[in-house]
Amino acid sequence: MTSVNYQSLVEKLSEVSYLNGVMSTLGWDQEVVMPIGASEARAQQISALAGVIHERMTDPRLGDCLAELEAEDSAYFDTLQICNIREARRKYDLETKIPKKLVKEMAGLSSQGHTVWVAARRDNKFSDFAPLLKRFIELKKEWAQCAFPGMDHYDANIDNFERGTTMADITPVFERIKAELIPLIQSIQDTRYQPDNSFLQGTFPVDKQEALARKISKDIGFQFDCGRMDVSVHPFCGGSHPTDVRITTRYQENDFIESLYAVIHETGHGLYEQGRMLEGRDLPVSESLTMGIHESQSLFWERMIAQSELFCRHYFDTIKATFPDNLQDATADVFYRAINTCKADFIRVEADELTYPLHIILRYEIEKGLFDDSIAVDDLPEVWNDLMMKYLGIKPPTDTLGVLQDSHWSSGAFGYFPSYTLGAIYACQFYQTMTNELSDVEKNIEKGSFAPIKAWLNEKIHRQGSLFTPHDLVCRVTGESLNPEYFIEYLKKKYSAIYPLGLE
Ligand SMILES: [Zn+2]
Repeated sequence: MTSVNYQSLVEKLSEVSYLNGVMSTLGWDQEVVMPIGASEARAQQISALAGVIHERMTDPRLGDCLAELEAEDSAYFDTLQICNIREARRKYDLETKIPKKLVKEMAGLSSQGHTVWVAARRDNKFSDFAPLLKRFIELKKEWAQCAFPGMDHYDANIDNFERGTTMADITPVFERIKAELIPLIQSIQDTRYQPDNSFLQGTFPVDKQEALARKISKDIGFQFDCGRMDVSVHPFCGGSHPTDVRITTRYQENDFIESLYAVIHETGHGLYEQGRMLEGRDLPVSESLTMGIHESQSLFWERMIAQSELFCRHYFDTIKATFPDNLQDATADVFYRAINTCKADFIRVEADELTYPLHIILRYEIEKGLFDDSIAVDDLPEVWNDLMMKYLGIKPPTDTLGVLQDSHWSSGAFGYFPSYTLGAIYACQFYQTMTNELSDVEKNIEKGSFAPIKAWLNEKIHRQGSLFTPHDLVCRVTGESLNPEYFIEYLKKKYSAIYPLGLE
């Protein structure tokens, strides 16, 4: 028997979940189908709904209900119920502990921030962005003080995206990656060899690209009766519920790889959402865990599976039949090498899997320095360029291609960047464990039989919802905490077979 208080909590939390579903649908609509003329009206609708959700989440009656539940004997609750109470408390505290004045100033600065950042990036003028960035760091320190009193300010910001993970966990992992990847990338550059990718240039009709992407997404397990695929400016995964998961991509006639791999990436996010536990789907316990774990799922499919030699072998004939004029002289092996080209470049979002972590580590180190005052905002362009030189051996010619490239800081999202690389490391560690536990993983990839792989992820990760922290989840699934060695080994092995490094 569940207590009256618990019933009341479930009602309150479910309502918030329904409202969040509506909010998410509005957001998807805005990115995918809304006419541009409706921007202002939509902003008002979203702001009104955000107000209602905030009211519900900070309702003193919710606080009372939680306090009463916490006073009850926990022996009466099962694991899922305990998790719902704990998660509701975390959210309630985060929402109510921040003074209204601070919430308002952060919201205002965030919307202003986007406009200022867009203009500064366009004009290549960091000094126009600097004052706003300074203010945001001050506000985020204040926010940390209120949200996680006693915790280091940058750790608190990381916790917001990757709970339970701190600089003490991340720094040694990133140091290991730096120690191995910087020389590896350097030796790749020294070979002066680049795989032939001329056959990936040309014209690739959008309707054919879409049909191919849809087929592969479906093959790896995306359920189109509980999901959709559409077009937006930036690919994302949204939707209102595990039964309504919406992924997007964008198409360019002259490049089908970008769009295809964006679909596979978003499918990975989508499988996580569709795979959530059946029980309590409108309650916090079923929700996906953190940014890093979400990214581990998208990167698992994009890199560990779809950028593998076996996957390329399985799909090459299909891809060739889709674009026969372009790929007539190519082979599966040539295709595999071409999509795994490593090249140091300025822009993070265009980086390959080998150089990407260094883009992230650079940002992590800068954020750390901004929060412990060892780096001044005004020095950022110089610090950025020096680190790019040190890590990737290139210097951005402009700040537009350097320190001004990402939108994250303009909305105050500090502590977000590490999740991308934590996700890549988790993905590799999960893959390693999966191949130990399941027989025939490689054979199945080569056959295009992905159901056992998806089922493993469903059971081990998706259905675990928010029961554990990322650290505990990784320990439960793989038997050890976050370990970068698998990631390093994977990259070394893979790239020394693609490039003539003379390592093996
Ligand atoms: Zn992603």
